[in-house]
Amino acid sequence: MRKPHQRNREHARRAQGGICIYCRQPMGKDVTAEHLVARMDGGRNTRGNIAAACRCCNAGRHALFPRGAPDPETYQAFVLLMGKAGLWPIERL
Ligand SMILES: [Zn+2]
Repeated sequence: MRKPHQRNREHARRAQGGICIYCRQPMGKDVTAEHLVARMDGGRNTRGNIAAACRCCNAGRHALFPRGAPDPETYQAFVLLMGKAGLWPIERL
């Protein structure tokens, strides 16, 4: 049986039309469950708190901001700017 966050991830992927919530690129099979409020900040595995993001965007939100992940709106703006500059995705993330 699939775990709740997998079901929520699948729901989010469909609702987003297969587009990553941050970089707005097609995710293909590389879909991760992004907690909008991070688990470390008390975010739950509820449908309303889970969006679908590509692996790079999901990893980057924490890896690039070790002092604290930016809120989703700020992070999306960052990712879109990086994309415009040709600096996204970061393959090693
Ligand atoms: Zn992405």
